[in-house]
Amino acid sequence: MRQLQEINRRAPFGMKIFGTFFAIIAVGAIALYLILNMTLDMNFQEFSKQNSQLHIQGMVSLFKQHYAQHRGWHALEQLRVEVSNVYGSLGDNFILADTSGTVLMASDETLVGQTLAPSVLSQGSSIFFRGQQGQQGRQGPQGQQNQQVGTLLSEATLGRRTNLETDFLSSVDRAILLAGIIAGMVALLLGVLLVRQMTRPLRQLGNAMLSIADGEKQQQIEIRSADALGQIGEAFNKMNHKLDHSEKLRQHFLADITHELRTPLTILQGDLYALQTNVYEPTVETFASLYEESLRMGRLVEDLRNLSLAEAGKLSIEKQPTDFVRLLNQVVETLKPLLKKKNINLVIDLPQELIIDLDPDRTTQVLWNLLKNASHYTPPNGQISIGVTSEVSQVQVEISDTGPGIAADELPYVFDRFWRADKVRGQKSGGTGLGLAIAKQLIVAQDGQIWVQSELKQGTTFVFSLPINHA
Ligand code: ADP
Repeated sequence: MRQLQEINRRAPFGMKIFGTFFAIIAVGAIALYLILNMTLDMNFQEFSKQNSQLHIQGMVSLFKQHYAQHRGWHALEQLRVEVSNVYGSLGDNFILADTSGTVLMASDETLVGQTLAPSVLSQGSSIFFRGQQGQQGRQGPQGQQNQQVGTLLSEATLGRRTNLETDFLSSVDRAILLAGIIAGMVALLLGVLLVRQMTRPLRQLGNAMLSIADGEKQQQIEIRSADALGQIGEAFNKMNHKLDHSEKLRQHFLADITHELRTPLTILQGDLYALQTNVYEPTVETFASLYEESLRMGRLVEDLRNLSLAEAGKLSIEKQPTDFVRLLNQVVETLKPLLKKKNINLVIDLPQELIIDLDPDRTTQVLWNLLKNASHYTPPNGQISIGVTSEVSQVQVEISDTGPGIAADELPYVFDRFWRADKVRGQKSGGTGLGLAIAKQLIVAQDGQIWVQSELKQGTTFVFSLPINHA
């Protein structure tokens, strides 16, 4: 647990995800706020311009009337009062410029005297006065000409805002900001929950790994989703299960080796002690028995060495073109005395000659292990059949016997190290329980396959196939 705290302190993974989440939300919220603000500002300005322009158009007649009354832009203070009387606070947003663009009057007095650019002036509403013949301007009714005497504009044309507009905009601004903050907080809260949910399997995984490192077993983690994290959890559970299985196998293997070595060793020690204390006569039979036990120990050690080399993939395989029929016949010849002794009928179905690229020594050992088992487990007067079928890409060898067979529930373990059927366990078979495990490793090392078919009381058939490499 101390280690886990250390890891948590050094790599707060949840905090990293949360930090990323926070940064994304913050950047998103700020970008949204700025875009909304900019869009609102632009659209509002346009709206305000058009709206005040309409309003200004309505005011033009009042200004025109005043001009006509005073024959020019005189008594402007009176005009301001008139505007205020007629339009109230709505009239608090205008600029009156003469034809040269000089501001004569404006709701904002600081503008008076300033000269407006023609581009600004063109956005305003022209004030025309019906003047005398000969004067410049548009032709009006009754032969008189309409002469422009000024321009009326709204302050919005200069990009200015009224107090009302500024208040409205800042209240909208505040509302957007508030909505952003609330949405951000909700998103953060959801983020916290999501991050907790997402990192839970990782925390579990970390805890389980540390527990395994501390030597605890069976650390299975709960899978709650089928996503990538769920798959990692599933892979971890599988790996852990395998680790556990391998550990059990290793322990069994050690226990089995100890057990297998102890039996001949105890016999040897007992016999030697009996000889030393003159309980046994030092006869040829006694020495033969001692020799037999020492041979058995030697076989076991050799089998173990071969098996561990094969399992580690370190067994050298030296393939060469070999006459498989000759190889098989040699093994059969060695077994013939035993077969004869038990009166076992041997049926062989072989082609004349079959040259295959294989390791002759390793294949001889496989054949020996299988045929020795068949002759051992087949009762007297039984039968052993050997069949070889050669196909395009592989050769298949079948060795069947009329022995006791193997129970269906035991078949999956037949090729396990030290496995023996319950019935024969404890019997003095002379075998090491490693023969089939070795045979399997030797066949697999030559890229072949081996399997078994059996039924209790019906006999057993071991089949193996080896690839034929065409040059
Ligand atoms: P062993 O040295 O004990 O024969 P093997 O690995 O060769 O070890 O075989 C493992 C076990 O498989 C045997 O103990 C026996 O129970 C079973 N077995 C192997 N071959 C046969 C067979 N032909 N018929 C019945 N059982 C067999």
